[in-house]
Amino acid sequence: MNKVISYGLFLSVALLVSCVKEDDISADTIYKNEILDYISAYKEIVPSDQIEKIGEFVNSIDFKRVNIYQLRTTERVIIADLKTMNGFSESKNLKALFFVNQGKIVRSGIAGFASKTPTNEHDKLILSVLNATSPKLSYSGKISLFNLYRELILFNSFENGVLDAVGFTRQQKSGKKNGRTDSCTDWYLVTYYPNGNVTSQYVFTTCDNGCQFYRMGRTNCGGGGSSGGGAGYAESGGPILPVNPINGATYEYTDKNGEYTKYQYDAASAIWKIVEKILPAAVVVAKRDEYPFLDLDWPGAYHGQIVLGTYKMIYIFGSDGNWHGVELGDKPISEYSNKCQGLQDIWNNNPNNEMYGYITSDGKLIVTNRLPVSGGAAFGTFKHPNGTTYYPYPMSQSAPSQSYSGMIQYPASNPTHYLIPVVASVHTHSPCRSDGTNGVSHAVGPDDNTFATSHPELRHWIIGCEAIAQFDGINSSFFNVQYGNVSSTCNSIN
Ligand SMILES: [Zn+2]
Repeated sequence: MNKVISYGLFLSVALLVSCVKEDDISADTIYKNEILDYISAYKEIVPSDQIEKIGEFVNSIDFKRVNIYQLRTTERVIIADLKTMNGFSESKNLKALFFVNQGKIVRSGIAGFASKTPTNEHDKLILSVLNATSPKLSYSGKISLFNLYRELILFNSFENGVLDAVGFTRQQKSGKKNGRTDSCTDWYLVTYYPNGNVTSQYVFTTCDNGCQFYRMGRTNCGGGGSSGGGAGYAESGGPILPVNPINGATYEYTDKNGEYTKYQYDAASAIWKIVEKILPAAVVVAKRDEYPFLDLDWPGAYHGQIVLGTYKMIYIFGSDGNWHGVELGDKPISEYSNKCQGLQDIWNNNPNNEMYGYITSDGKLIVTNRLPVSGGAAFGTFKHPNGTTYYPYPMSQSAPSQSYSGMIQYPASNPTHYLIPVVASVHTHSPCRSDGTNGVSHAVGPDDNTFATSHPELRHWIIGCEAIAQFDGINSSFFNVQYGNVSSTCNSIN
């Protein structure tokens, strides 16, 4: 007890001090020791010709200008200002990035800006790249990510907040097995434009199977990628799935290479299903045997490329340089050309369930999940870089019962899936029928928050008791609340 109290006192004194002192003598970050420990361990596996660069990197960190943020996975990122360093030609406003996984720093990188207009929103812009979301800022310029050897990994270029080019450093495979000659790899900066144009430019050659380039963490480079997941990527611990889960319960896990997996419990089959994946390039390289369908020939994955994988997953290559996989949905349970009719039906006919669905881009309703009354995870969507978000399901389950403008079949050459364009999610909050609330007066729950965070481009609606409302991944409360019977409010749901 004493210890707790004195710690509390110390904190309030420290806060007081930092308020009255000048900026330039403010305290170093509480993360300083962790960062220094991480770097000294990292140095042990760095090639000798790179040691000097790592030393200069550490000396450039401004430990007084440091912030930490939650990422859309279970990781957080520490962003620290860097004093000027050489080797970044056009990039200014350099920032050090340290990825924190289960309380430990596991990977690192450097971000830099070539801005056309001044900005002081550097951290927000970095997060938009790391999370592959639109920056929601009218930024014009280029945001680049580098490894600690100052090699460019990727860049996102924006004009007034709209992505107008994405570049990735990729290995050249052109005819040679895995792009290697005597175990050396040529690397090219491959740039993709929204009109489909692709350019490439040679940047450098490495002679270590590409391992050093992709390595942002401290994991051992070995493994050879020939067996299992590659020896260097074995990890103690791993996901610890909760025991006695309820149907629809979800669990998220990120390993230290940044591989994110979201599980959902299916009580009928008594298994935790994988419903979402995020795979950095380094993981695909290290786990070639597990993800052969993502280890693609040069020019490799392009921004927006879609690949069907195993486990009923569909993968899309994002502007963050990661593969984003979501579980394919099933054919909608029901479909309504008149969304008001549909919304009234699902509310009136399912008092003991949470019903989930989507409003299509042509204003119709597809109902996709019938969940327990307490909720659970619904089938997700994915965003195509053409700006459209689709609900995907296998063609083997038969065609939809009505037509949807903008629906496409994938792949175009030998289609196996229907992709229905959607603009909003909608689901019912049935507990309000008995708990005396209107269903949208409490704080936004964790499942709804997670869903909205991973689908930021959609609007999200709740049908409650004599009330409808919207939610997003940012606000803790529901907003745009409208009162009345669903038959009188349903037209607002779009
Ligand atoms: Zn909900």
